[in-house]
Amino acid sequence: MRFNSKANLDSSRTRDVGGGGRTGGGSIGLPHVAGGGGVVGVIIAIIYVIIQMQGGGSGGGGLGQAINGSAFTTNSVGLSGSSGSTFDYGTCETGEDANRSDECALVAVENSLTDYWSKQPQVSGHFQPEQAIDVFHGSVQTNGCGNATTDVGPFYCSDDQTIYLDTAFYDTIFKQLGGDATPFVRAYVIAHEYGHHIQDLLGTMGKVRTQQGPDSDSVRLELQADCYAGMWAAAATTVPDSDGNVLIEDLTQQDINHAIGAAKEVGDDYIQQRMGGRVNPEQWTHGSSAEREHWFQTGMNAHDDIKACDTFSARKLG
Ligand SMILES: [Zn+2]
Repeated sequence: MRFNSKANLDSSRTRDVGGGGRTGGGSIGLPHVAGGGGVVGVIIAIIYVIIQMQGGGSGGGGLGQAINGSAFTTNSVGLSGSSGSTFDYGTCETGEDANRSDECALVAVENSLTDYWSKQPQVSGHFQPEQAIDVFHGSVQTNGCGNATTDVGPFYCSDDQTIYLDTAFYDTIFKQLGGDATPFVRAYVIAHEYGHHIQDLLGTMGKVRTQQGPDSDSVRLELQADCYAGMWAAAATTVPDSDGNVLIEDLTQQDINHAIGAAKEVGDDYIQQRMGGRVNPEQWTHGSSAEREHWFQTGMNAHDDIKACDTFSARKLG
C-alpha cells in the first residue's frame, strides 16, 4: 500500500489519548455486542492467533491464557517503538508522511474511509464521520462503554461513536507479521471498525437481538462489517479526497491477500481450534473463517452497492 505523497491529510479526528484510563469502571471484557450501544466489533483474536502461528510470541502463554489477558499485558509500546510517549497526529500532513510513518498511515486510512463512505449514495444522507479514532496505551476510559484495556483489542463504541485502537495491538502485528503484511492488515482492522460506525449511522445496530450462535445477529453484524471493509478495499485506489486527489495510489493483490488471510484468522471456528477446543458454533459471535472471507470478498465484489452486504437477510452466511 502506498499513499499519494502530494495528498493532504486531515488529522483532526485521530488522537493519542495516552494510557491509564480510570480504574473501577469495570472492564468491558471480551468482544460482545451490547444491544443498542456499547462495544462492538473486536478483532482482538487476530493478535493472539498470529502469535500462536508464529510459534509463540513474547507472551509465551497459550491462547486460552492470552484471551484471559494474563499473557498479554502491555507496556505501552508506541507504534514505532516510542515507548510510553504520546504521538502528535497533528504532524501528519501529507501522504508522504503516511508513507514514512505508521501513525500517519492510520490517519491516511481514516481519511480514505471517510472520503469513501461520505460519498456512498446509500449512506451519504446519514453520513457523519466518527467522533474520533482514539489511540491508547494499555487502558482507556471511553465515553459510554466503560473502561477498556489492551486485552479487548480494537473496538468501536457506539455511545461515543469512537474507534479505539491500542498501540500494543499495532505493535504486535508489526512484530509478528513483519513489514510487508502489516500496513493493509491494519487498514482492514480500521475498515472493519469503521464498518461498525456505518452500521451505527444506518441504525443497523438496533437490529441486534441475539448475541451468540452461527446465525445470530451478532455474527451477521460482524460479517457485515467485514463486507463493508471489502467494499472500501475494492474502491480504495479510486476514492478522491476533497481536493480531488486519490490518497491511496497503490494497493497490491498481495495487500488484499493479507487482509483476506487476516479475516480468515479471526474466524470463530479457527480461533476455537487454535485454542485447542472443539468447534462449537453456538458460541460464535463473529462468524467462521470461511464466512469472514466470503463476506470480505462479497464486499469487494459489491461495486459500491451496500445492499450486497445485507447479511441480515442472507439465508446462508457461508
Ligand atoms: Zn467487529
